[in-house]
Amino acid sequence: MAGFKLTYATMFNPPEALHAGFDKAVTDLKKNLGKEYGMIVDGKDVFADEKWEDRSPVNTDWILARLQKGNATHAQQAIAAARKAFPAWSRTPWQERVKLVRKAASNIEKRIFELGAAMALEVGKNRMESLGDVQETADLMSYSALMVEENKGFIRAMGKDPLVGYDPTNTSVLRPYGVWLIVSPFNFPFALTGGPTGAALSAGNTVVIKPATDTAWIVRLYAECLRDAGFPDGVVNFITGPGSTLGQALVDSPELDGATFTGSFDVGMKMYRDFAKRNYIRPVILELGGKNPAIVSRNANLGDAVTGIVRSAFGLQGQKCSAASRVIVEEPVYDEIVSRLKEATEKLVIGDPTERATYLGPVINQNSYNDFKNFTEEINQGGGKFLTGGHVKSGGIYDKGYFCEPTLVTDLPFDHRLWQAEMFLPITTIGKVSNLNEGMKIANSVNYGLTAGFYGSASEVDWFFDKIEAGVTYANRPQGATTGAWPGFQPFGGWKGSGASGKNAGGYYYVQLYMHEQIRTLIKPKADRKSSPGKKSNRKPVKKSASKKSRRR
Ligand code: NAP
Ligand code: MG
Repeated sequence: MAGFKLTYATMFNPPEALHAGFDKAVTDLKKNLGKEYGMIVDGKDVFADEKWEDRSPVNTDWILARLQKGNATHAQQAIAAARKAFPAWSRTPWQERVKLVRKAASNIEKRIFELGAAMALEVGKNRMESLGDVQETADLMSYSALMVEENKGFIRAMGKDPLVGYDPTNTSVLRPYGVWLIVSPFNFPFALTGGPTGAALSAGNTVVIKPATDTAWIVRLYAECLRDAGFPDGVVNFITGPGSTLGQALVDSPELDGATFTGSFDVGMKMYRDFAKRNYIRPVILELGGKNPAIVSRNANLGDAVTGIVRSAFGLQGQKCSAASRVIVEEPVYDEIVSRLKEATEKLVIGDPTERATYLGPVINQNSYNDFKNFTEEINQGGGKFLTGGHVKSGGIYDKGYFCEPTLVTDLPFDHRLWQAEMFLPITTIGKVSNLNEGMKIANSVNYGLTAGFYGSASEVDWFFDKIEAGVTYANRPQGATTGAWPGFQPFGGWKGSGASGKNAGGYYYVQLYMHEQIRTLIKPKADRKSSPGKKSNRKPVKKSASKKSRRR
């Protein structure tokens, strides 16, 4: 247990105990790397014939874990186990369900340093980001539990319809759907598995979890926190393997009742279409990519803007769906902000993410590393100039992992495709506009609408909130121009191509997405139907016992 409350806000001034706890966890964990982990189906460890070695992007010599390459048979087994467990779990009183979800959240908090250390090694996140992802997961789960509790299990009395002579009771009940699939991405493997899982379980669904291949180890550790909380067998199932085979087999199963997918636009849209190939519509929650703008007005506090933009452009090496990948600046302050952004970016430390001073670790894998080289080449060809960065790092430890320089680009024409496409790397483009309306038009001119930031005067802020097309918006925030949402404070979700539900995770309206509504209307005759005013009964009197019987039918 950390012994203090961690949020992205407290991260900027962490207590010394945090560093000591994290350092010890890294040392302990490194003594024990390379173990084999099973999948978890129906409460049991399940092993596949094929395995893979999960290596660290920090140093590819480090084998973190040996994992199971699950296939379509495992997909079916996991779904069958979840199906079998659903009737009992869905009828478990919500108070009991919420208790177990909270127990799992508390298990996560107890292991926070170990889990944070594993996260840093597997994802390449710096220590604060790693611990943040883990703590956020506990908070997201607790938030869903809280929402179910505050809404008393979503059982609500509706109005009584005015039926003369009858006493109606109308009740709205939100009930779980059934077996829920959760597919998560590599970049927030804990929170984006745990947030949906916490909601699905609090709501009474059973789950099948399929993590990203790059981050299957940390999600296995998450699944252990659930297992140790004592959910009945089959309520939580965890399977690992390639998205293109195992993931696709899951999506193609008619036995699922709902799904949450967090990942890239292309994979998510394919999943959405494949999921629709059934005889009725099943809910699918999509949380997709972003191309998030930070708009800087001539009236901005430039110090706050620079701090917030650099944090959001390069936190987690730009591999956040919420990364500030576009900076749009009003002309009068353009030159100044450009030079200050360059200066601040060049101070960032790149290296082993478990080390205290490091801000940027490696990118996730060889593909992303190659993408970085290809995108920088394309930018060069397209007329962009590198204000700073533009290369992969080499020499010493850099040759062991996938390290890329934090890169700021100017002069790339606004009609270049890389102003539109999500690169998901530490590359941010900066553009100049002559006024804010032009800036807003550019900001909104993308397929995405996830997060957005603004720096300007108090009187410009309302204009920004009103005009910007995004689900999570920030004004004048040095803690992050576009990143750093925390459950309960900034519920997280996107508009347009960034999200499908229109309701943000970690907010008031999220857990309801995992339930369908049933209205229960029950009519009781008022004391004696025969004597209702204005009505004459032509029924013959019946014996008391017979009348009771007929009513029961
Ligand atoms: P990704 O490549 O789309 O993969 C996401 C998940 O889908 C992985 O578990 C992947 O498994 C699986 N998958 C791949 N093909 C599949 C298929 N045919 N059927 C079922 N599952 C399949 O995304 P990523 O690279 O992990 O994550 C980065 C993306 O996620 C970015 O676009 C980012 O913006 C987005 N993201 C969005 C949010 C949000 O809240 N809106 C948050 C975080 C990230 P494998 O790893 O085995 O391929
Ligand atoms: Mg890996």
